[in-house]
Amino acid sequence: MKQVVLAHALTAAPTAADFTLIDAPYPDCPQDGLVVEVAHVSLDPYVGSRLRGRHMGEPAPRPGLDPIPGAVVGRVAQSRSPRAREGDAIHTMQGAWAEAVAVSGDAFRTIDPSVAPLSAHLGVLGMPGLTAWAGVAQLAKVGAGDVFLVDAAAGAVGGAAGQIARLKGASRIVGLAGGPRKCAIVRDQYGFDACIDAHAQDWRAALEAATPDGVSAHFENVGQDILLAALGRLRVNGRIVLCGLAAHYQADAPPAQIPIGAIIGKRAQVFGLVVYDFYDRWAAFLDEVAPFVRAGQLKIVEDRVHGLAAAPALFEKLMRGENVGKAVVTVAP
Ligand code: NDP
Repeated sequence: MKQVVLAHALTAAPTAADFTLIDAPYPDCPQDGLVVEVAHVSLDPYVGSRLRGRHMGEPAPRPGLDPIPGAVVGRVAQSRSPRAREGDAIHTMQGAWAEAVAVSGDAFRTIDPSVAPLSAHLGVLGMPGLTAWAGVAQLAKVGAGDVFLVDAAAGAVGGAAGQIARLKGASRIVGLAGGPRKCAIVRDQYGFDACIDAHAQDWRAALEAATPDGVSAHFENVGQDILLAALGRLRVNGRIVLCGLAAHYQADAPPAQIPIGAIIGKRAQVFGLVVYDFYDRWAAFLDEVAPFVRAGQLKIVEDRVHGLAAAPALFEKLMRGENVGKAVVTVAP
């Protein structure tokens, strides 16, 4: 079978040239585990850090040997698990950029393919959706009357966060996204009230104009510049969810800083979010969110390519922030 590996150890932000597609032995089925034929692979920002050994203490894959890690959905080809049978659809965070993967023990969930296309379980019903729900519903507890702000709003996490905030009763949803094409998706497909082009020179003034009554809950995905502007718009007793720092992952610049005085002045609550802490609430998340996806009320936008050979170029695009929606590689639909 085919799988993608690193061509060499990485010293800088990954580009398409850092990967190579190789032949690899078909995986053996682990005791109590599965072999899964991969239908779709998820490309996520954390993998860029993981490839350089900078993510949550997890090791970087060995060049030429280990497949690139990533969440996948697919069908069970062999099962030695009591929890899944051949042909079942499953999701695992322990997948890879490969045609087939071995999944051990309890490192998978069976999924209901009738709710939405399988690839939706990598986005709005997958780890990014869980992240959005965790920040909006579990940490900031967004509800009626909230003015909700989120950046990278066209992406999988940001788009889901705004839409879930709306379902929770927020009265105004404002996004920031890079460029007019992304903003059109945020407004017209996700149904935000306003979207500010984060690449426009006057984005700070536009943010002020779009939030005349301030912001009561802000969800940060990008980094320091937007966080500081959001803090400026935050109401007293506002909440901030710190989810991601996409603009800082590749930079050699100093890390993002938070002005503590402004947090005190605003009496703000700041929540650090790590989605791992919410994996045991995946079922509760799906109970709440899946009906809206099934009903078409929660919209999905994907940046999709076909074939593992196309994965490195899409990943480079994701690393540059040029993806539009959830980055997905379809291996065998
Ligand atoms: P996205 O599809 O939103 O991709 C990241 C986006 O960040 C880009 O599209 C771009 O959007 C924006 N961006 C701004 N500056 C840069 C830059 N210099 N380089 C790259 N991207 C940039 O990804 P996700 O929806 O999957 O994730 C959103 C954020 O949530 C990420 O920061 C991710 O790491 C984080 N995350 C955190 C988790 C946690 O447990 N804390 C779990 C999952 C995700 P734009 O052009 O609109 O600015």
